[in-house]
Amino acid sequence: MWTPEGPLQRLDAWHAELTRLRRDLHAHPELGFQEQRTAELVAGQLRAYGVDEVHRGIGGTGVVGVIHGRQAQPAPAPQEPPGMAAEAWPRAVGLRADMDALPMHEENEQPWRSTRPGVMHACGHDGHTVMLLGAARYLAASRAFSGRVHCIFQPAEEGLGGARAMIDDGLFARFPTDWMFGMHNWPQLPAGRIGLAPGAMMAAADRITIHISGSGGHGAHPHLAVDPVLVAGHMITAVQTLVARDVDPAQHAVVSLCAMQAGDLGAMSVIPRRVSLVGTVRSFRADVQQALQARLGPLVQSVALAFGAQAELVYERVYPATINTPHVAYHAAQVAAELVGDAAVVRDLPPSMGAEDFSFMLQAVPGAYLRLGTGTGGGAQLHSPRFDFNDAVLPLGAALYARLAERALSQPRVQML
Ligand SMILES: [Zn+2]
Ligand SMILES: [Zn+2]
Repeated sequence: MWTPEGPLQRLDAWHAELTRLRRDLHAHPELGFQEQRTAELVAGQLRAYGVDEVHRGIGGTGVVGVIHGRQAQPAPAPQEPPGMAAEAWPRAVGLRADMDALPMHEENEQPWRSTRPGVMHACGHDGHTVMLLGAARYLAASRAFSGRVHCIFQPAEEGLGGARAMIDDGLFARFPTDWMFGMHNWPQLPAGRIGLAPGAMMAAADRITIHISGSGGHGAHPHLAVDPVLVAGHMITAVQTLVARDVDPAQHAVVSLCAMQAGDLGAMSVIPRRVSLVGTVRSFRADVQQALQARLGPLVQSVALAFGAQAELVYERVYPATINTPHVAYHAAQVAAELVGDAAVVRDLPPSMGAEDFSFMLQAVPGAYLRLGTGTGGGAQLHSPRFDFNDAVLPLGAALYARLAERALSQPRVQML
């Protein structure tokens, strides 16, 4: 399926260098918005590869590399996605990688394990960064496309919204982009497989914080107190009725209360004054999200009132849902099939209730988010203290990034065998 001059072969030749870079980043992880060393390395590599423009400090530590194509006239386009007009092919394509690590301690023993206690690349963003560097190197060398490629290295994907920070800092105003692509390594998919969907990929993630206030008192004299721990117990079960009874069973939603703070473990007979609950609401559709938010407030207030307590709800929308644009996802699936064969592409991947801040970019620009299989059948999962990025897929991930842009920018069709 793949022509010998394709980017995968080119990137295979750089596999050792990509692996060295990935392990260097893994050994030096940095938390969100603190990716100074990483950004320095990224900018230095982009310049060394001959990328035309390297811009730093966008949305904090974000970096953008701009590569101009040299193919004067667009060649006949690759297969157009159904329903898309020929003139709708993009003139500028954005490729995004996230650069941040997680606040956790690595338990691996390999020589390139984290040198920073309490900070670890447990989500594989070190691999994403290096795959996009590999794509930039290939694209800057080949330039066999028309228009521009924006290589976007974003900070702070893990809960801090680095993508939004870059957009708020003028990312798409400074670098107008027609299509965006992002990807994530996925250990649950076998290495070499690529998965995506023409719509929902990841859920919207909202944070809920509930503060319950009672009067506190002596555990032996509960009739003289208002017990917020008992109220919390009822509230935890009542909140589960939202998905069961307020959401259309054909839709997807999750409400999970995951943290609870109440009393003191050393005080068996002190009824506390206050209990706090923290959890998350996940959904794909705006109407489902709106309905859950609208129901939660009255439910929390009513349960508290029933026991003579008071409650305060803080509802925060953290990340929107990650929804692929159908015709761009179609293009991405075609490109993926050229790289790994049609049988290795999952075109209707079930959505995940996890969340991803690439969603902010997809709200601003049509695009697609893909999952790159990295599974080896026994490796650790994302966010595990034993996770390590599977370096075997670095050339494929880099080739995928490169080819998504090159083909969208009207590279002549590869010879299909
Ligand atoms: Zn993560
Ligand atoms: Zn991640």
